[in-house]
Amino acid sequence: MEERKCLLTGGNLLQAHTWKGLLQISGIEVELRGEALLGGIGELPVDLQNVELWVSQSQLPQAQAQLNSLQCDLPKWQCVQCHEFNEGSFELCWHCSAERSEAHN
Ligand SMILES: [Zn+2]
Repeated sequence: MEERKCLLTGGNLLQAHTWKGLLQISGIEVELRGEALLGGIGELPVDLQNVELWVSQSQLPQAQAQLNSLQCDLPKWQCVQCHEFNEGSFELCWHCSAERSEAHN
């Protein structure tokens, strides 16, 4: 059994699922861990959820590089409806589900 390493911690569940999806497209196997997974979505405020992304040790450098490049390529955007900031990978506002409408270059 290959050892796993924690790639990312402290994100909310929605963000974690976004990262997981993006990494899996690149062939990186990701495991989600965290308290929020035990209680179910909706029982905790989003900002109190503590989710961790774990990857196998051999894929950790690749996953970190992938995360870095994604974060560089995708700047945060601000929702025009509720003015919350969203990760660049989000197509919908995490807070009010409004479509991304901010102009970006
Ligand atoms: Zn919003």
